[in-house]
Amino acid sequence: MTDKKAVVIKHTGSHYLLTELPEWNPFQAVVRGKLRLKGSDSTNPIAVGDVVHYNMEPDGTAVISDVEPRRNYVIRKSTNLSRQAHVIAANLDSVYLVTTIDYPEVKTAFVDRFLVTCEAYRIPVRILLNKIDLYGDTRKEAVDSFKRIYSSAGYDVVDVSAVRGDGIEWLKKDIEGKVVLFSGTSGVGKSSLIEAVDPGLSLRTAEISEYHNQGRHTTTFYEMHRVSSGGYIIDTPGIRGFGLVDLRPEEIYLYFPEMLAVADNCRFLPCTHTHEPGCAVKKAVEDGVITEERYMSYLGMLEEGGKYR
Ligand code: GDP
Ligand code: ZN
Repeated sequence: MTDKKAVVIKHTGSHYLLTELPEWNPFQAVVRGKLRLKGSDSTNPIAVGDVVHYNMEPDGTAVISDVEPRRNYVIRKSTNLSRQAHVIAANLDSVYLVTTIDYPEVKTAFVDRFLVTCEAYRIPVRILLNKIDLYGDTRKEAVDSFKRIYSSAGYDVVDVSAVRGDGIEWLKKDIEGKVVLFSGTSGVGKSSLIEAVDPGLSLRTAEISEYHNQGRHTTTFYEMHRVSSGGYIIDTPGIRGFGLVDLRPEEIYLYFPEMLAVADNCRFLPCTHTHEPGCAVKKAVEDGVITEERYMSYLGMLEEGGKYR
């Protein structure tokens, strides 16, 4: 029996759709019996983006035998109180956080929590500032302020417009050769941007109602798509952000790159960067090296004890 490797593009009920990359030759595969990722308590041991090993049986059935350790992954808790986490996607090369200044207004508190989650999951993240066709001179200050906050924190902020086409060529190039995911609150233009990148990808119908013996429910399928100009997009319908990372308060600052960069110089160790004398983080905030906005987000997360959605 030959043991081959492929990537999971979709999971529907008892079947998985796999492909070799970069070939893109989708074929079905099954899992027999239990397959558990070591050290994982997630409900689905195999997620979109996972690299799996499989064997071809004589009748042509591909049987998954093993899952490679993940470089990173994003999860969603099934419910607020649930302890079980559902892995949405694995092995991402990049996440685009789609944001807008207006229509809708995306709050920095949301952006910061999202970025912390990406840092904690070790996923490279880029911020797309969408709908820039809408922000004329009147919103210049708000746009500049947003960009200043995130570029000073070390993040790329790229102007895009799904409607006018700004940044779309850049985005195509950036996606080439990567597995990427678009995230952001509802209405910011995720679907529009994906369609602008590849008009052949219409992802708005990914929520499918299924009939089970228990009745009708809506199942959300996560799926990887090939982009015609190169690269792969994992579609996560209905997911605005991901997260609920349970961070201990004392580790939150590790996921603020600009705080981490100076925290070595704090006089006390450990330092909560709130009240301690000789705190290098507070000094950096006073000096304008770290923005007030980001520092306030940090304090907000500390107050919540690191637990948030
Ligand atoms: P999603 O919920 O994030 O997938 O957002 P959609 O792609 O459905 O877009 C929400 C609304 O914003 C739609 O009415 C789009 O036409 C509009 N929209 C998306 N991108 C742009 C843009 O760049 N400029 C403008 N003016 N409108 C946009
Ligand atoms: Zn400190």
